[in-house]
Parts: sequence; structure tokens; C-alpha cells
Amino acid sequence: MKLVTFLKDGQESVGVLTADETAVRPLPFPDMNALIEASWEQLLSAVKDADGSLPLSAVALLAPIPRPRQDVICLGINYKAHAEEAERYSSEAFKKERPIPIYFSKRVSEAVAPEGYIESHPGLVQRLDYESELAVIIGKTAKNVKAADAADYIFGYTVLNDVSARLLQTTHKQWYFGKGLDGFTPMGPCITTADEIAFPPALRISSRVNGERRQDSTTDLLITDIGEIIQELSSGMTLLPGTIIATGTPAGVGMGFDPPKFLKPGDVVECTIEGIGTLRNTVR
Ligand code: MG
Repeated sequence: MKLVTFLKDGQESVGVLTADETAVRPLPFPDMNALIEASWEQLLSAVKDADGSLPLSAVALLAPIPRPRQDVICLGINYKAHAEEAERYSSEAFKKERPIPIYFSKRVSEAVAPEGYIESHPGLVQRLDYESELAVIIGKTAKNVKAADAADYIFGYTVLNDVSARLLQTTHKQWYFGKGLDGFTPMGPCITTADEIAFPPALRISSRVNGERRQDSTTDLLITDIGEIIQELSSGMTLLPGTIIATGTPAGVGMGFDPPKFLKPGDVVECTIEGIGTLRNTVR
């Protein structure tokens, strides 16, 4: 099922999309984090008992988890072709031994809604860039999980745009500031539950800027796969329900072009993953 958070008459609610994806059926959970923490049986029961539906045209979708409880955990340089383009852009900043994963965190006080705005931060940010990514949502407390069992801990998947300020990212060496600014984490349009996607996910992932195709790959080309990520992180770090892990971006980001194609106000960025949907945002 596809789960969403939406706003209707100023009230934030969660719901499940109807099969034709034209309407949402509200569910009786206070928010998406509470829904994720409920048992699968409780969720199925709530979906079965849901009465009434609202046309999507009558609501405003928010990010499925508008206020994550913790920063998003991100993988850097996790597709081979993206590693090559990043190293071409700045060998000093991006040349790394492989395949030890790069983990960093992305601060997100409030995730940007589908159709919401990516903030360009004039005066602070130059070289604004996009990164279409598959994000994994953890469904139950994960500690010392083996890669072979990792699928059991995944609640679902969403699309995340890991918006990046390249000059801040490379100048400050550590990526936290250049990737954690307000308006830098568009997410959505929905969470597709893990039961609908074969594990490991092999989904087409792409992005467009003003209609021009920039990224086009598949999510089975991760250097460090989802099972390995969950095994390694959970070996020393308890992953709580609602944890969001952005698994890295394929080739075709703005810094990968010669000359680079960075974002500017007015640009429309669409990140799409098969089976989840398209996350569309405008730079302002
Ligand atoms: Mg990224």
C-alpha cells in the first residue's frame, strides 16, 4: 500500500491511497511515526475499517514523515558511475578507497512536501545540486541485524532528494552543513510498504530538471546494498522505527556535467522511482 501524510483544512492526517491513486482514505493514527510503530496487524485492520475517502485534489500532500525524529542517515558515493563523476568534479573532495561506505547525516527539521520548495539560500549557497535517492524506512527496532534478515526490519520505501550545496560541502570537508540546510530534504510523494517491493529493490530511479532527463539508473546498482547497510549500522547503532536511510544517488547530478548544471530559482526538479512515484519540487 501507499501511505501518505496530508493536510486538509489545516489538519495534518495520515492515510492510504486508493488503488487508482486518485483519493486518500484517512487512517486513525496521530502521525506517520505512530503508524510505523503500530503493528502490521493494527495497520491492516485500520485500512480495512477506513471509511470515507478524500479526492487528492482536495488535500495537500506533505512529506510522508514531515518531521523525522532523527536526522536522515545517508550513504555517500554509493553508485559506481556517480563515484566516477564526483571524482572528476573534485578529486580532492571525492577520491576515496572503495568499497567502505561513507555515512553522513542530513539534518531535517521539516522535510519538504511533494510540490514544495527547495530553498536556494541566496548569499550562502552556490552550486546548488539535486540527488534522486531511494530512502529506506525502518519499521522495527534494529540491533545486530544480519544482512540476510534486514528485509524484516524495513517498513517501506520513499523517494528523497538529497539537495546539496556543493561549495559548502567541499569547503567544509564534512558534509553536514552543505546538505542539512532548511528546505534541502524533499521527500515523497508516499511510502510504499515493503510487502509491495521485492527485496532487494531493483527499481528504475531517475531525475529530470525542467523536463530534461538527468539521472536514469536502477536501485540494484548500489555499491553497498541495503542488507549490508543495515547489518553494519545496526552492529553498533540501534535503528529505531521511523529511521530514514537515504541509499545514495546514481550518476547524472549537476556537478557531473561539463560544464556543471547547477540549480537556480525557478527550476523544477522531478525525482522518480518505479513503484513509489514522482517527487516534484521547485527551487526558490
Ligand atoms: Mg546523496
